[in-house]
Amino acid sequence: MPSRTPGQNPLLWIATRNRGKTREFSQLLRSVCRVRDLHGLPRFPEIRETGKTFAANARLKACTLSRALPNHPILADDSGLVVPALGGRPGVRSARFAGSRATDQSNRTKLLRLLKAKTGRHRKAYFETCLVIAENGAVLGSVSGRVWGRITQAESGSGGFGYDSIFQPKGYANTFGRLPAGTKNRISHRARAIAKLRQRLSRLLSFARAIE
Ligand code: IMP
Repeated sequence: MPSRTPGQNPLLWIATRNRGKTREFSQLLRSVCRVRDLHGLPRFPEIRETGKTFAANARLKACTLSRALPNHPILADDSGLVVPALGGRPGVRSARFAGSRATDQSNRTKLLRLLKAKTGRHRKAYFETCLVIAENGAVLGSVSGRVWGRITQAESGSGGFGYDSIFQPKGYANTFGRLPAGTKNRISHRARAIAKLRQRLSRLLSFARAIE
């Protein structure tokens, strides 16, 4: 367990190697804790996401990491983009939509190609996240968050990560890739889920700190 200097915010481990997610969690939880992801545990093995739902995968990641780092709350997020006109795809396959070697770019290109002939309501989509807190292999809490929008005809903006440059949230004229990070962090699926969990997390972390 990393050491903590008195007065510093407590540390929360999150079960991801996605730097885009880590950056957003750090910003969203700034007032509650510091965040460290799996890059801080270079030898920790890849967690295979075998679940059929975001909730199942988030639970798997949180429980696996919490067994490896005992007596400390762990947060995991499983998230993705859902396009109802494509039967819910990319869904839980969002990170590897274009195949096992997919990149954010190849995933976006594939999605734009599949939606090429679609207009209006057929381009509706939402981001969803499921967050799970676990400790010593047991789930302590689980919440989810969703943000609706539409898939644009072409890429726009270079901010964010993943599908951000082709996702225009409802009520906004720009994609997440073009909107300021602060706007995304107010309305995103992750922001909405964190809002439901913030108080609980804060309590758990101060308890973990008290018994250390
Ligand atoms: P996970 O690591 O299995 O949860 O994969 C999540 C994938 O969903 C990411 O690699 C992105 O492709 C996509 N995704 C999730 N959240 C966001 C977001 O906030 N913006 C853009 N893409 C996202």
